Amino acid sequence: MCNLRGLLPRCALLLALGAGCGAAPEDLAAEGPPEGIGSSQHALSSIDCGESSDVGYSNGNAFTIKLVTVDGKKVEKTTANAYYVMAQAAAAAGVHLKVVSGFRTMAEQTYLYNCYTSCSCNSCNLAAKPGYSNHQSGHALDLNTSASGVLGWLNAHGAAHGFKRTVPSEAWHWEWWGGGPGGGPCGSCKPSCKGSKIVSSDCGEGDCAAYGATCADDAKGVRCVSVFCPALGSKKVCVGQSLIGECKDGAIATGDCGAFGAYCSTAGAPEARCVSVFCVASPSDPPKPKSVCLPNGKLASCNGDGALTSAVDCPTGQSCAGASGDARCEAPASPTRAARQPPTPERRRPRCLPTRRRSSSRRAGSRRPRSAVAPPIGGSRTAASSRAPRPPPRARSRCSASSRCSRGSRGAERPELHALACSRR
Ligand SMILES: [Zn+2]
Repeated sequence: MCNLRGLLPRCALLLALGAGCGAAPEDLAAEGPPEGIGSSQHALSSIDCGESSDVGYSNGNAFTIKLVTVDGKKVEKTTANAYYVMAQAAAAAGVHLKVVSGFRTMAEQTYLYNCYTSCSCNSCNLAAKPGYSNHQSGHALDLNTSASGVLGWLNAHGAAHGFKRTVPSEAWHWEWWGGGPGGGPCGSCKPSCKGSKIVSSDCGEGDCAAYGATCADDAKGVRCVSVFCPALGSKKVCVGQSLIGECKDGAIATGDCGAFGAYCSTAGAPEARCVSVFCVASPSDPPKPKSVCLPNGKLASCNGDGALTSAVDCPTGQSCAGASGDARCEAPASPTRAARQPPTPERRRPRCLPTRRRSSSRRAGSRRPRSAVAPPIGGSRTAASSRAPRPPPRARSRCSASSRCSRGSRGAERPELHALACSRR
């Protein structure tokens, strides 16, 4: 492959002939010595942090590059900061660095490349293909390495400031890709809030409101904090009826109570928690210990936090009944229980209708709801009653409120032949 060390003439020849050289990226950044590298500079590097933008290129791809001015040359902002910190350190050692060439536009790089390929200008010096020079990506600086003590100081201390000499044949070409002590005078804003907007240390602005947050500036620094959370400390909060959020210094992580058949609730508690929908009527209903019937028929217990602590099947023959808070397992209503209930107006006037259907059902021993056996007089007639001939008036019996239909006589079983007997209760 093409290594510039010792092979430069051959590579240059191949490039001139339009053949591929197989050059590594750093080779592509190589170019001839700029004017001024040998001039003696005694003044300290100067820097102007006034920003401008231009089109930078990295591996042929265009991007917006932010530039400031160092020693009268445009330099990419972060490279400028790193360089200036290094230049200050060199000055402290009595060595005066100066930027001779910094950022290059596409037009400038195209000019240098044409000089190189046509050998008609710039001393036929090597220049990277337009779009591929690291002077266009903002990482490369050509420094005054011919000045007294400069190259020696850079060789000894450049690396500690993140600067590296990348083209062996070009002592003046140094690149910065990060590293060093940090700092620098440009683009360093004090992080702050502007309403809901946050200003970062690189002077960029973002709107916390776009994330359902607001900007906070306190002991934890400048940051976006959720509108559902306190800016400092930890707390669980509700985000709507279903979502529960865990806040930590304004940051929030959410979970869904709804996935567990629960509401998020703060009712009756200092912090949010998931509360079973079977234990409260709504998220604003404070939970309390109680018994409830679940839709699956189990008898369950809710604790004071609205959590179901147990759910059991009722014993055989019983089912869960009763309102929330008074739920219990109980047997279905028995005749005895029904007899204890106060008589209704209907019961005060029992009607003993002497039909075959009524007596046969009694023989079978089944107890059916009254309405299923005999609809109230004047009500709709069933198909069975339509088929049965209406009994003669004398066959009908109406017992008074204080009597009941006799079940003991054979006559009661043959109502079409015998009137039902009424007996005292
Ligand atoms: Zn260079």
